[in-house]
This record gives sequence, structure tokens and C-alpha cells, in this order.
Amino acid sequence: MQLQMKKGALFRAASLFNHHQRIFGIPHNYPFGLAPYCKDTTANAPLYESKLPLSTGRPRLVCLGTGWGGARLLHDIDPKLYDITVISMRNHMVFTPLLSSTCVGTLEPQAVAVHITDIQPALFKPQNHVLISEAIAVCSKARQVEAVSDGIHFKVPYDKLVISTGSQGSTFGIPGVLEHTHFLRDLHQAEAIRSKLVDNISKAGIPGRPTQEKQTLLDIVIVGGGPTGLLL
Ligand SMILES: Cc1cc2nc3c(=O)[nH]c(=O)nc-3n(C[C@H](O)[C@H](O)[C@H](O)COP(=O)(O)OP(=O)(O)OC[C@H]3O[C@@H](n4cnc5c(N)ncnc54)[C@H](O)[C@@H]3O)c2cc1C
Repeated sequence: MQLQMKKGALFRAASLFNHHQRIFGIPHNYPFGLAPYCKDTTANAPLYESKLPLSTGRPRLVCLGTGWGGARLLHDIDPKLYDITVISMRNHMVFTPLLSSTCVGTLEPQAVAVHITDIQPALFKPQNHVLISEAIAVCSKARQVEAVSDGIHFKVPYDKLVISTGSQGSTFGIPGVLEHTHFLRDLHQAEAIRSKLVDNISKAGIPGRPTQEKQTLLDIVIVGGGPTGLLL
């Protein structure tokens, strides 16, 4: 699958999909699992189409995900060559190397997020779309992506498909990690960590709090000693 890029580079999508393959990523309801396999539950879902008469007749490019991969593609692509639809669970790209700094207040969340329309302003054009939703399956036979948002299932047709939905964090089988920790890949997770830290420090400062309880509140375990864990 080749796409024409502004700089003439050729882009090879991560995977070519068989009929009804599931999409790997980090769906909302499955924080570190896989999206459910798509059976034909959305067979009658409406086909998403622009209501404006502005399908230009250009090939329809659908990009799944607005992380590093998707954002780079959307930045570099020549929007005159395609009608572009972005399907992503977030409307922004996160500058992950600085994400851990937002957990401890060194940076504010908005300092590490860039809205996808700032990265590719042509997404404002009426023939292009940004759909904040979870892609749940690709049907390569019908050339459609199935997605869901707020319980509403819909399908988006494509001529070219880019799958840049990222990967899942690994626990390396460490017991308790899945159940008891905050993961750190996205802004809302960084905010959850920050608010937990502030909460615990405030609770520990209450006069009369038994020392053992204070200790428990202030004990923080970081799983993973790479750059992110060390920065934290
Ligand atoms: C805290 C942290 C620090 C890091 N620091 C560095 C660093 O310093 N240097 C470095 O090289 N790398 C770093 N990385 C790794 C780097 O961020 C990843 O390699 C990179 O984000 C992968 O890019 P991607 O586009 O494949 O996926 P991601 O950036 O994860 O983007 C995936 C996108 O797909 C969307 N998505 C996922 N599933 C679905 C779905 N089913 N439907 C719709 N949308 C979906 C997500 O919302 C997201 O927009 C860091 C990662 C983290 C978490």
C-alpha cells in the first residue's frame, strides 16, 4: 500500500489487513487489552459520508491514530492529493518524551499536546474529517473501517488506509501491575497520576494522621526504570 507524500517519500502502512481483522491499540474500555474482535455486529451501521457536496473525487485516505506515526503522516502528506479522514480516540498528538513531567507539575498537560488540526490545518476543510472515535475493525474486502463513538457504530470507506494505532504497554508479567497501577501513555493518565500524588500528599499532611498511615500514603512504587520511570 503506497501513499504519495508531499516530499515524494513512499509510505508503507504498518499492516495489510485480511478481511475483518481487529485493530491493535489502546481502546478506552480495554486500557491494556485488545479491542474486541469485530463480528458483523455493525453490518447495518450507517456509512459515514460528508453531508456537504465536497467529496472531491480524490482518493479517500483514512488515518487511524494521531500519535507520533499518524501525526507525522498527516503533517507530511500533501492534502491536495487526498480527501482525508482521521479516526482517533484523541484529537491531539502527545509529545511523550515530556509526558512524565506533567505528572509532577514541571509542565502543564497542554504543554505536551498539539491539536491535530494545528499539525495539518487542511483537516478543517469540509472534505476532510476528524472523527474522535475508536476504530474496532477493518474490512479490507469492503474497504471500510468500523468505528464506534459514544455507543454509535459507523463505517468509513477508504481507498488508502494508514494504521497507526500504536502499541500496548507491557507489564512483563509482574503481578499486580495491571490491577493496581496507573499506566502512562496519555494525558488523562498523567493527570490521574498527578491528582493521586497531590491527593496522597495532602492526606498525609493532616495533623493526627498515624505515622504508619502517612508512610503508606507517601510510599510510591514506580514500575519500570527507563527514562520515563527515572524522570518521574
Ligand atoms: C511516557 C513515554 C515517554 C516516551 N519517551 C520517548 C522518547 O523519549 N523517545 C522515543 O523515541 N520514544 C519515546 N516513547 C515512545 C513513543 O512515544 C512511541 O514509540 C510512539 O508514541 C509510538 O507512536 P505510534 O504513532 O505508533 O503510537 P502512539 O503515539 O501511541 O499513537 C497511537 C494513536 O492511536 C490512537 N488509537 C489507539 N488505538 C486506537 C483505536 N482502536 N482507534 C482509534 N484510535 C486509536 C491513540 O489515541 C493515539 O492517538 C515514549 C512513550 C511514552 C509512553
